[in-house]
Amino acid sequence: MSVQAADGAAPGARRLASFGGLAGLSIIAAVVLFAACTALMLENREDSLRRDDQMARNLVILAGQTVAREIDQIDGQLRMLQTALQYGAGAVAAPRAGVSGQPGGGLIVVEPDGRLIASSGPASEAKGFLAKVPRLLAEVGPPVDGLSVGGPFKPPGSPVAVLALIRRCAPGQCGGAVAVVAPLSMQSLNATFGRLALGRRGSLVLLTEGGTLILRLPHFRNAIGRVVVSPGDLEGATGTHIVHRERRSGVDHVLRRYSIGQVGDLRLVIAVGVAVSELASGVGLLAAIIGVLVLLLSATIVGLTLVLVREVRRTTEAERDALTANRQLAELARTDQLTGLLNRRGFDEHLSREWRRARRNNRPVALLLLDADNFKRYNDKNGHQAGDGVLRLVSRCITDAIRRPGDIAARYGGEEFAVVLPDTEFEGAGLIAENIRSSIAALALAHEGNGEAGVVTVSIGLSYHEPGRTDSEATLVGSADEALYEAKNSGRNRVVSRRVV
Ligand code: GH3
Ligand code: MG
Ligand code: MG
Repeated sequence: MSVQAADGAAPGARRLASFGGLAGLSIIAAVVLFAACTALMLENREDSLRRDDQMARNLVILAGQTVAREIDQIDGQLRMLQTALQYGAGAVAAPRAGVSGQPGGGLIVVEPDGRLIASSGPASEAKGFLAKVPRLLAEVGPPVDGLSVGGPFKPPGSPVAVLALIRRCAPGQCGGAVAVVAPLSMQSLNATFGRLALGRRGSLVLLTEGGTLILRLPHFRNAIGRVVVSPGDLEGATGTHIVHRERRSGVDHVLRRYSIGQVGDLRLVIAVGVAVSELASGVGLLAAIIGVLVLLLSATIVGLTLVLVREVRRTTEAERDALTANRQLAELARTDQLTGLLNRRGFDEHLSREWRRARRNNRPVALLLLDADNFKRYNDKNGHQAGDGVLRLVSRCITDAIRRPGDIAARYGGEEFAVVLPDTEFEGAGLIAENIRSSIAALALAHEGNGEAGVVTVSIGLSYHEPGRTDSEATLVGSADEALYEAKNSGRNRVVSRRVV
């Protein structure tokens, strides 16, 4: 039974181990699932950001080209005017080459003293613009071959800024004039860019390379003409190179990712900003939803696995406790309470097992049956409790005499004991029997009713069985019993042996 109990504990431990492995695997699977989804979403977001950057970059290029084309158109007129002045037709050419509808009065020819010598627009409008010309000329510096851009400034009453396009004249180049100047209103660019879809919080700005705001969409009150970007933030945006920078706007303080590029070869910069909060926002929301779902799923898997493992552990522990209790009960059911030896039931099981094994292995087996002599009289004289004490001492003498692991002693019933000696030769079994008998007599426990001995003695019947000579364990017991009977009848306190061959 103890063998069965030990075997019964193993499946629980195996199950716990396999569930432990399963739990580990499911936790790893959850972590891998979570990591894979996170990597996928991050890659998706990266892709989306790249696409956003590409679109902003294209917008910067197109807007830059639009501004450059507008400037180029007016510059063509300035160049035509320079040529006309060289050949003395300036006064006529200016009004003819005029830029209609330009606040500031169209083309202006400036004399060395800063006076207006010709204008293509109404003189009153030209005057307002003319007043700024000396400062603009000072800003753009000495004569250079090429177009300079001055400003921006806002004409009174105008919602948009005006840039001054200036071509300085080399001495004699413009028939005495120092420069030809044309205003470029942001009105038409404003209208053009106003049609662009920049997102809810996006922006498009045109700046001088010093960071002064020339044009902004969406419009922002009083921002035009202010330095809204530090020049350092515009660094690198030269030629066809477009840079991307995440900055908080100096105008409306929205955090944006700006794509920044130069306008032609002019000292102007155009930037398209997409609010960071709107960047890849669709993907971001989807990623967040998927991320939360995957996280919940992973947490559920891990949670359920842990609960399952805890339950399996509890069940296994309960099973183990039950098995231990069963084993203890079984142990108890096979043990004699008085002596601690096997009881009759335990003895029968053991004998049966040993007898089968002896047959299987073709080995001998010996059985001793012991009976306390005239024990009824001992009880009658000394009382039952004293008799119990004697039985305990007798059992100790028996266990002291048997040494080999396979040897077993049992209380057969009442004042009778049995000893099984597997794989023991006839002579050896006889020696053990004699040993037991003499050691009990040597206890010298007074027993007046025990005839000549006068002390507690036992009679022992020994049956020895050669391999393959016995049909059943009943024969084994029967011949030992006969030997015991003979020991009693022939005077007690002796060993009688039967050899079954
Ligand atoms: P014999 O030498 O022929 O064996 O005589 P006997 O008196 O021992 O045999 P009998 O079978 O007549 O009596 C057995 C006695 O053993 C009866 C009982 O008083 C005693 N006995 C049996 N079991 C116990 C026990 O558990 N404790 C005590 N103290 N005595 C027991
Ligand atoms: Mg008896
Ligand atoms: Mg007896």
